[in-house]
Amino acid sequence: MSDLRPLLEDITDRIYREADWGQPAQYIRELAEVDPSQFAICVCTEDGRMISAGLAERRFSIQSVSKVFALMATLGRIGGQLWSRVGREPSGTSFDSVVLLESERGRPRNPFVNAGALVTTDALLSGREPKLALAEVLSLVRAAAEDDDIHMNAKVAKSEERTGSRNKALAHYLASFGNLINPPEMTLGTYFHQCAIEMTTSQLARAGRCLAGFEGAPSVVSTLNVRRVNALMMTCGHYDGSGDFAFQVGLPGKSGVGGGILIIAPKVASIAIWSPGLNDYGNSKAGTRAAALLSQATGWSVF
Ligand code: GLN
Repeated sequence: MSDLRPLLEDITDRIYREADWGQPAQYIRELAEVDPSQFAICVCTEDGRMISAGLAERRFSIQSVSKVFALMATLGRIGGQLWSRVGREPSGTSFDSVVLLESERGRPRNPFVNAGALVTTDALLSGREPKLALAEVLSLVRAAAEDDDIHMNAKVAKSEERTGSRNKALAHYLASFGNLINPPEMTLGTYFHQCAIEMTTSQLARAGRCLAGFEGAPSVVSTLNVRRVNALMMTCGHYDGSGDFAFQVGLPGKSGVGGGILIIAPKVASIAIWSPGLNDYGNSKAGTRAAALLSQATGWSVF
């Protein structure tokens, strides 16, 4: 693809013209205040090029996109042991849903719904100080992006800590089934901080190269785990919108309520898109639209 730049500029113009932004996440105050009419896209290709358009150097809260990095860190640390505590099936429910946990005896469907991410973070903690587990996730992200200027925003984490009743309910419910090793408040605090990592769209696209199987990308994850994490992104990365994302875009992706999406075209590109307004599933509305436009124009798809 030699003419990626005009394509990304076209997509950006179109997104601003359509102005169909959706609303930013309302339950985290810091996110609710973000102007929804913003857009950025960045593509890193196998040959080392990085092309972006829109506000690609603006930092945003990566929120649930962090679940991908926390999962890579946890799999690296404890390997397949994680799967005795978390499943690998799509949930068909919203990211913060509690409904399946009762009938499935506290074993969350997958590591990308909040309940599963809480268990994953709990496993990463494995008796350590939260700051050590958080440092591990942050250094993985920095190494993947080859950029140390990536940080956590403690204000965003605190803001979610104040209002995150749903996550607190999930953590305590998991604990009631014996599926949390650490005290629920400790796991929650670690999870909120992990979600509060901020990155630019360019940094996120660069960090995704390790999942695209590029030769020469920083080796922060094994080849086997690259395949597995991508499979989970494809089937579970957009919650109850995962089927529709696969239908529209045809590539593994992981969204966050900060409006970010990381998308992988294996062996071809690592793509990051950001637009803070959300659709009904809690995924970036304009971001999802842009991802569909990009995959249609390039033909990039795993199918
Ligand atoms: N921190 C957010 C939460 O737990 C992350 C959710 C998301 O990005 N989908 O609610």
